[in-house]
Amino acid sequence: MQLHLYGGVSRYEPENIGRLFLPHEAITLLDGEPTATDEVTVSAGVEGETARCRLRLGAFDRTLEAPVPRGDALLALWGKPAEFAVSSLMYTLFCALFETTQPWGMLTGVRPVKLLRRLTAAVGEEEAARYFQETLCCSAEKTALARRTLHAEDAILRLSEPRSCSIYLSVPFCPTRCSYCSFVSHTTERSQHLIPDYVTRLCREIEETGAIVRKLGLQVESLYIGGGTPTTLSSSQLQAVMAAASTALDLSKLREYTVEAGRPDTVTEDKLKAILDGGATRLSINPQTLHDSVLQTIGRRHTVEDFYAAFSLARKVGFDHINTDLIAGLPGDTKDGFCQTLDGITALSPESVTVHTLSMKRASHLVVQGREEYDAGGDTPHMVSYSAARLTENGYHPYYLYRQSRCVGNQENVGWAKDGHDGLYNVFMMDETHTVLGCGAGAVTKLKCPEGEHLERIFNYKFPYEYIDRFEEMLRRKQQVVSFYESYGRTL
Ligand code: SF4
Repeated sequence: MQLHLYGGVSRYEPENIGRLFLPHEAITLLDGEPTATDEVTVSAGVEGETARCRLRLGAFDRTLEAPVPRGDALLALWGKPAEFAVSSLMYTLFCALFETTQPWGMLTGVRPVKLLRRLTAAVGEEEAARYFQETLCCSAEKTALARRTLHAEDAILRLSEPRSCSIYLSVPFCPTRCSYCSFVSHTTERSQHLIPDYVTRLCREIEETGAIVRKLGLQVESLYIGGGTPTTLSSSQLQAVMAAASTALDLSKLREYTVEAGRPDTVTEDKLKAILDGGATRLSINPQTLHDSVLQTIGRRHTVEDFYAAFSLARKVGFDHINTDLIAGLPGDTKDGFCQTLDGITALSPESVTVHTLSMKRASHLVVQGREEYDAGGDTPHMVSYSAARLTENGYHPYYLYRQSRCVGNQENVGWAKDGHDGLYNVFMMDETHTVLGCGAGAVTKLKCPEGEHLERIFNYKFPYEYIDRFEEMLRRKQQVVSFYESYGRTL
């Protein structure tokens, strides 16, 4: 696609609109008018107070124009009026060209609920919802979903106080690599030998982080051990990590403690007991699909039977909050196949279910190995709608919602939970409600100003070998947490 922008319009939103309709195409920014006729060409910009957009492909050649909506209070929340006006025209023209609409309309950001919250604060929920549908072209179904999620999220956000924080512990090892994965996770085949040293360093970082939390008088609201697959660690290694956390941190007011046991083939009774005894209140076991052929296609070594065995073992050991993750749009899956998976999961009655939509991440094997043309987009919206209907019927509500770029069918990821089982960490982290202190390779510490929106990040080394080799240097960097809070006069 060739994109020519003029009149000082910035590229961010117009490019995003292009990607909504042409997710696999490169976008070339041009200085002058596009000339080619065999690819989509867009020429858009602002002259005076008029926004104009021309879209061409073959016989399709249309131009639209509209006034730049200055002084619109809601648009002021959105950002730049000229960029918005041009993007809106582009969206309308693309819908006409491809004779389609997008489920989230021209919303391309990852957090539609956050935008809905800001709009609601400005003009009330009804007006904000009308704006979502009429101005941003969001479907009625997605607007309703965003509203339901907003109500649940708001209740969770009210739990957080200025001195609140959450803790994330990263275990970046997995038995194999899923074909859709873009995380920095190492297969245990390749890096098993690193795990003992990694665990030792991670425990030390937890100790240092605990000292910082105490020094600053922060209160830990939620703790999340994720990855990767934390249950690639042995039961004694899990014990060591969890003991380090309960020794270093005051967990007496902790509201939620999640451990991901993502790959069912890594789950054993010993490990589950270690996790429960270590204080976890929420366990995540992730089948992704209940079809062995799809599991093989996506490079997961476990079977559906492994998942059922791990789930019932977790119940037997005593977990009363189990989350299961599913993915809509996986290669090899079908609409009926996904619906069967969903029905199989609801029959087990986990306390929460997270339904992701496959995202074609650039670093994933799916894309790197040249399967970027794979597109289950046709069926994925049906899968996602079915999940919303069935989970609602079965007593689940949406409490958390975010979108990813390159999501098949431009859908979303939604956390569903039975009453009293919302995943708090997920909301705190996605909303950037309060500081999240990350420990381990690839973890990011996000420092949130106690009484405002300002955010700073401290990145740990990504790869386990770097994390081990440059550990002391990384620990020194962590002292920035103290200086951040001191700059707000919030110590000690
Ligand atoms: S289990 Fe998660 S982190 Fe591990 S390879 Fe699969 S997607 Fe990546």
